[in-house]
Amino acid sequence: MEICRTSVELAARKSLRVDKPLVLVPTMGALHEGHLSLVRLGRRLGPVVVSIFVNPTQFGEGEDFDAYPRDLDADLSMLESLGVEAVFAPGMSEMYGDDGEVTVLPGRRAMGLCGGDRPGHFTGVLTVVAKLIGAVRPDVAVFGRKDAQQCLVIAQMVEDLKMGVRLIDGPTIREPDGLALSSRNRYLDTGQRDQALCLFRSLTAGRQLLAAGERGRDAVAATMLRELKAADEVEYAEVRRVPGLENEKRVTGRIVLAVAAKVGPARLIDNFALEVTDHGVIDGFLLGDPTGI
Ligand code: AMP
Repeated sequence: MEICRTSVELAARKSLRVDKPLVLVPTMGALHEGHLSLVRLGRRLGPVVVSIFVNPTQFGEGEDFDAYPRDLDADLSMLESLGVEAVFAPGMSEMYGDDGEVTVLPGRRAMGLCGGDRPGHFTGVLTVVAKLIGAVRPDVAVFGRKDAQQCLVIAQMVEDLKMGVRLIDGPTIREPDGLALSSRNRYLDTGQRDQALCLFRSLTAGRQLLAAGERGRDAVAATMLRELKAADEVEYAEVRRVPGLENEKRVTGRIVLAVAAKVGPARLIDNFALEVTDHGVIDGFLLGDPTGI
């Protein structure tokens, strides 16, 4: 496994230029089984480059940039054992230089949800993802469905800026009791860990109501909110359309149930991507159907 610190080093790696699609899996490190599942998905297509970079521009003032867990050695040994071809672990100056002035502004999909609670967050995300795509020049990039709004905001950038990268969203990996894996779960003590289950309970309650035939957005959101109130601070509990994230009164077609809340020191998010029809509710996806790979 090659460890590259610069895009020039990456470009020199001939092992990445084989007759198969080159796959990028962007991460901020502190890897867990959720990240590794995306790597496994990517490896079915071609050689994989995993990027590890804790991106300062997507953290707001007072957020956890300094406290964010960093453990490069542990990350590298996990990736090595998966047979990853290369890791791109750039330093700050490689990514932002002395005057990283150019940014990518998101469109409407970044309005509300995490875009409302974290102003500037998606500008930071798009700017760094555009740089990573420029540095790695992948054919395919894999993202986690857990960050649903992020997936859809990035998809809009890739389409609008004609980046020519195929995007795939991998399913959310959970603990046996339903808690979505997250690098930020490391912030939780035992009591907070139990409390954090309210995000999954909220989504499950919303799904159950839809399965029982409810199609009113407000009724579904109110049920989700009731469960989410077990958190220390509720940020949102919403039902949005996929892919445009419109907020419509009647729930039908491809949608996400999306929640965010603070539990102790951690701001946690989770969602269910669903397809709601006249006959019931099935699991959905956001970008491209990964079952076809
Ligand atoms: P992060 O390191 O938090 O920026 O996440 C890197 C990638 O891993 C993103 O595409 C996330 O959506 C994805 N990811 C994070 N948690 C999970 C999870 N529990 N299951 C699947 N993918 C995840």
